[in-house]
Amino acid sequence: MYLHFDQIPKSNTFASLPDDFYTRLPTTPLSQPRLLHASSESARLIGLSPAAFSESVFLNVVSGNVALPGGDTLAAVYSGHQFGVWAGQLGDGRAHLLGGLKGPDGLWELQLKGAGQTPYSRMGDGRAVLRSSVREYLASHAMVGLGVPTTRALSIVASADRVMRETMETTAVVARMAPSFVRFGSFQHWAAKQRPDLMRLLADYVIDHFYPECKAFDKHKDSDAYQYVRLLEIVVQRTANLMADWQANGFCHGVMNTDNMSILGLTLDYGPFGFMDAFDAGHICNHTDSQGRYAWHAQPAVAHWNLYQLANSLHLIVPDADALRQALDSFETFFLSSMQKKMMSKLGLTDWQDGDHVLIDDLWSLMHRNRADFTLTFRQLAHVSGLTDASAVQIEHDLGGTVNASIQPFVDLFIDRDDASAWLDRYRRRIAQQGSPTNHERIQSMLASNPLYVLRNHLAQQAIEFAQEGDNSEIERLLTILANPFEAKAGFEAYSALPPAWASKIEVSCSS
Ligand code: AMP
Ligand code: MG
Repeated sequence: MYLHFDQIPKSNTFASLPDDFYTRLPTTPLSQPRLLHASSESARLIGLSPAAFSESVFLNVVSGNVALPGGDTLAAVYSGHQFGVWAGQLGDGRAHLLGGLKGPDGLWELQLKGAGQTPYSRMGDGRAVLRSSVREYLASHAMVGLGVPTTRALSIVASADRVMRETMETTAVVARMAPSFVRFGSFQHWAAKQRPDLMRLLADYVIDHFYPECKAFDKHKDSDAYQYVRLLEIVVQRTANLMADWQANGFCHGVMNTDNMSILGLTLDYGPFGFMDAFDAGHICNHTDSQGRYAWHAQPAVAHWNLYQLANSLHLIVPDADALRQALDSFETFFLSSMQKKMMSKLGLTDWQDGDHVLIDDLWSLMHRNRADFTLTFRQLAHVSGLTDASAVQIEHDLGGTVNASIQPFVDLFIDRDDASAWLDRYRRRIAQQGSPTNHERIQSMLASNPLYVLRNHLAQQAIEFAQEGDNSEIERLLTILANPFEAKAGFEAYSALPPAWASKIEVSCSS
């Protein structure tokens, strides 16, 4: 484990692309930077020892006050559709790629968010406020804990600098890491500019570094362009899996513009995201999204639409539109099968039977009608014992109660308890039909699939308010439970409780 950034081997692969892809420029120093938090787990990925966090070199680099030794600082250009409308050129308006770090298991690009203006800042100040930075920092960790693909957060640095949003707010810089920050919009950029040569370079870069399997095709049978169809197929599959992950965790991204869609299928660019409290299929987490374009239930279809834009761009280097269309069409199958697998493990189903679709759809409807808490509904379901399973008695004994003791916490989450009980009867009968695993095993596997803790808005809000006072203890506490959100921790009961009334008043907008 290294103590300094300069000891980590570098490979600035993105910077090795021609300079059409970016602008080289330094970050803008931050006044009175103070390390609010750094992640040992993220540091380990790049071979950096957590002991580095107390070194001034670390703070200087992750605040953007000193360039990464051996790095190559740049802002990347891309374009995209925002809220369904072509926005033209965008680019890293407040992100700087510092360089590529060779970790023990692979290469990580290190990027700072909020380290000053770039040629792509348009009207923006190039800064990020502490509020949204804490949210990104926590959310990246929450996703890792849930097993959802995401960019990583290495550190968060607070500053005395202030910027204007709805009110004056203090700024911060998050250092984040991903194997690549290339977006759908990076491809759209070259389609808009009618530059097949540069798009091919970008596609080859992505294939060489991340999807080498695309190169395995029969050169006698298929044209060179076939590898780009394979690229689309893989991105379709990864994105479909990501959507299933989001849906199964009640996660809303909030700004699924094509420039926020990762070519690696990672959750990228945390803005007004939200993990749902009360389930509403049409939940809109972004206060600015008045039309509900990015509502929870719309996310898979939006991802498909975004993939269509990527395919449309790739058409510039793939003449065979039918092949691209076919790759796009596989989205639904990938999404549905991934979603089915996730729902099976969330409900503890070991096989798929006729009627399971209806059972699951009816659960969503029940939750929606009752605005039942997303996370607790599934978590409490795990504690419900099967009807005729002999080991149920033992489980109920272990839980310290009667048969009803296993059911009551679930039923109590619903306003209409009869409605909930009726569905639960069907579920328990369904579970009882499964000979194996035992009730105990099912409960254990369901507890491992249904988190107890999620980054609820009000929990993030508490951490923000502490951070605004210079206190990182709430971030620390949240990270303790979010690192393994499936395991109940003594002393953290309040973190898994239903949200307080004020939580529904929190408004999260694009302003960050
Ligand atoms: P987003 O949808 O938040 O990921 O951002 C959309 C575009 O606006 C990207 O090109 C960002 O770099 C840019 N942007 C957002 N906020 C700022 C800011 N404060 N300063 C400069 N550019 C920004
Ligand atoms: Mg963005």
